[in-house]
Amino acid sequence: SPADVADIGVTGMAVMGSNLARNLARNGFKVAVHNRSVGKTEKVIADHGSDGEFYPSESMADFVASLQKPRVAIIMVKAGKPTDAVIDELASLMDEGDIIVDAGNALFTDTRRREAALREKGLHFVGSGVSGGEEGALNGPSIMPGGTKESYDRLGPMFEKISAHVDGEPCCTHVGADGAGHFVKMVHNGIEYADMQVISEAYDMMSKALGMSASQIGEVFAEWNKGDLESFLIEITAEVLAHTDADTGKPFVDVILDRAAQKGTGAWTVQTALDLGVPVTGIAEATFARSVSGSVPQREAGQAVLPAQAEAPEIADRAQFIDDLQKALYAAKLVSYSQGFDEIAKGAEEYGWDITLGDMARIWRGGCIIRARFLDRITEAYERTPDLALLLADEYFTTEITKCIPARRRVVAYAATAGYPVPVFASTLSYYDAVRAERLPAALVQAQRDYFGAHTYQRVDAEGTYHVEWSEDR
Ligand code: NAP
Repeated sequence: SPADVADIGVTGMAVMGSNLARNLARNGFKVAVHNRSVGKTEKVIADHGSDGEFYPSESMADFVASLQKPRVAIIMVKAGKPTDAVIDELASLMDEGDIIVDAGNALFTDTRRREAALREKGLHFVGSGVSGGEEGALNGPSIMPGGTKESYDRLGPMFEKISAHVDGEPCCTHVGADGAGHFVKMVHNGIEYADMQVISEAYDMMSKALGMSASQIGEVFAEWNKGDLESFLIEITAEVLAHTDADTGKPFVDVILDRAAQKGTGAWTVQTALDLGVPVTGIAEATFARSVSGSVPQREAGQAVLPAQAEAPEIADRAQFIDDLQKALYAAKLVSYSQGFDEIAKGAEEYGWDITLGDMARIWRGGCIIRARFLDRITEAYERTPDLALLLADEYFTTEITKCIPARRRVVAYAATAGYPVPVFASTLSYYDAVRAERLPAALVQAQRDYFGAHTYQRVDAEGTYHVEWSEDR
C-alpha cells in the first residue's frame, strides 16, 4: 500500500480488530489493516472492502509505512505475550511521537509497564478499554483510553467519532494517564459481574419462591425495564427468559448447565480491590458465585448430605414480593456501583490519575454491557459533589436507596429463612449496614490483634497509639 496515507491503522484482524477497522472506515477514516497471517486481512478486504477506504499490508513494515505521521496504530491481538510481541515489533518501526494503542483487554499493571518502556523510546502508549464486544466494536463501543493528554489530542477525535453516542455525546473520553483506561475498563467489567449476578438472584427467587416459569419471569423483567432498572442487561434477561430451546421445546434457561464461566476481569477487579483495600463486596461475591457454581465436587458432596433445615414461608402477596425484589435489585445495584466507583477513586489516588468520576458513568451510557438509564444519575451526583466520598451519600441516591430498605431487608430475610443463596443481595445489604453503623466490631478485632501480635490500637478518647502488656495482665 502507498506510504503516509492512512489516518489510523489496526493490526489484528480477528473479530474485534476487523470490526473496529470497519467502524473506523465507515466513519470516513482511511484505515491501514494488518494481521500476522495474511489470510485474515484478505478476508476482511474481500468481505467488507466496500465499508470504506482500507489500506491492507502484508508486512508490519509496510503497515507502519502506510500511516500518516504522527502515526496511530491500534493493536487488537490476543492479550498477554502476543500483545508484547506486537508492541515490540511496532515500536522498532515507529518514530518519536507516534502512538501505539492496545485496545485489547490488558491488566492495567501490564499497561503501566508497557507505557513506561515506550515512553523511554519517545513513543506514546495508550492502553484503551473497548467495551461492548463484537457488536460494540462494529457499531459504536464505549471507549476508555488512557495514556498522555497529547496522544488523546490526536486519537480522541477519531475515537469519539466511532464510539457510541447518547444524547449526542460520545461514549469516549480521556480517562487518565498510562493504565487508567484499562483500570476503568476492568472495574466496568467487575460491575458487570455484580449486575448479572444480582439479576440472576432475583430470577432465582421468583423461580423458587413463587414457582414462576421462565417466560413469566421474563415478563417481569420486561416490565422492570420500563422503570429505574432500564438497562441492556435487564432487557436481554427478559429476552433470554422468553427464549425456547429449539431441540426440546423447554425454556432455554432450563436446559443450560448451571456453571458460570469467567475470563478473569472480575477476578482482576477483586484482586486489585484487595490490594487497594477497597471493599467491593458486591463484585467479589458475584465473582465467587461463579466459582461456587463451578465447584462441582463440593456441590455434589453438599447436595448429597447437607440439609436445608429451612422452609419457604407461604407468600401471601405475590405482587408485593415481586415489587420487593425489584427494589432489592435496584438497591444492590446502587451499592455495587458505589463500591466500583470507590475502587476507581482509590486507584486514581494510588496511581496519580486525574479521573473525573462522573465522566466514567457518562461514557458507560452507551456501547457497553452495563449501559443503563441510571448512569445519568451517577454523573449528576459527581457533578454536584466532585469529591463525593460515598456515592450512596449523594442526596438523590440516599433518597432512592432509603425507599428500597424495607423491601431489601424482607428479600434477604426471606432468602435466609427459605434457604436460598443470595450472595450479592446479602453482601450489599451488609455493606450498607456497615457504612451507616456508628460503631463496628472492628474494635474487638483490634483488641485481639493487640493481644496476640502486639499490633497496638488507637483510643476513642485520646490521640496516639497504645499497647497493653497482656502477659503482665494475665
Ligand atoms: P483473539 O482471538 O483474542 O486473538 C486473535 C488475534 O491475535 C489474531 O489476529 C491473531 O493473529 C493474533 N495473534 C495471536 N498471537 C499473535 C502473535 N504472537 N503475534 C501476532 N498476532 C498474534 O482476538 P479477538 O477475540 O478479536 O480479541 C482481541 C482482543 O480484544 C483481546 O485482547 C481480547 O481480550 C479483547 N476482546 C475484547 C472484547 C470486548 O468486549 N472488549 C471482546 C472480545 C475480545 P493470527 O490470525 O495470525 O493468528
